[in-house]
Amino acid sequence: PFVNVYLREAGPVLEAKRLMEHLRENSLRDPMTGLYNRRFLEDYVGALVSSSQRRKASFSALMLDLDFFKQVNDTHGHEAGDKVIKTLADVLACSVRGSDFAVRYGGEEFLVVLVDTGIEPALKVAEKIRAEVEATKIPLPTGILQKTISIGVAEFPTDADTFWQVVKFADVALYKAKAGGRNRVVRFLPE
Ligand code: GH3
Ligand code: MG
Ligand code: MG
Repeated sequence: PFVNVYLREAGPVLEAKRLMEHLRENSLRDPMTGLYNRRFLEDYVGALVSSSQRRKASFSALMLDLDFFKQVNDTHGHEAGDKVIKTLADVLACSVRGSDFAVRYGGEEFLVVLVDTGIEPALKVAEKIRAEVEATKIPLPTGILQKTISIGVAEFPTDADTFWQVVKFADVALYKAKAGGRNRVVRFLPE
């Protein structure tokens, strides 16, 4: 009888906890792509930086932005644009390890954080993602579409010793990648 009472009382509590966890998990993800959102990032950066500092480890940030994405919306419509974004998100999700994370940072901008990864391996991952996106064929009602992506890369703590400054520098490098002709990976350089 005791166990029965316990189960009857505990059931709704466990159910409520499960629901809370579900809500929390959903509130940290972008519904369209299933990637993390900026809210997740804000919650997570403190732990990431202190863990990296304590272990004297580095991490790298990749800022990614689709090239000439507006053309997709203008030529094929918004629904096609959404399909392209979802396809790219899948490429990102498949390209990073379980300990890394991919965030939908803005409309067609993404941030990938590679934990315990210095600049050289990060550049390799970025190049792999770039090539993968270039090779991905996206089926649309109007035909097959292929898009490219530009990527900027910066490293903690070599380039900067705060998370948001590293992101800022990855963004500076991304701007360079765009200006240099797009469809390329650029490493942040102080100059
Ligand atoms: P660039 O190579 O310089 O990045 O060119 P771009 O056309 O990609 O650059 P820009 O940032 O001007 O355009 C981004 C466009 O992305 C504008 C906006 O309409 C579109 N966009 C943003 N979020 C979404 C979305 O969720 N769905 C769709 N379909 N379009 C989106
Ligand atoms: Mg953009
Ligand atoms: Mg763009």
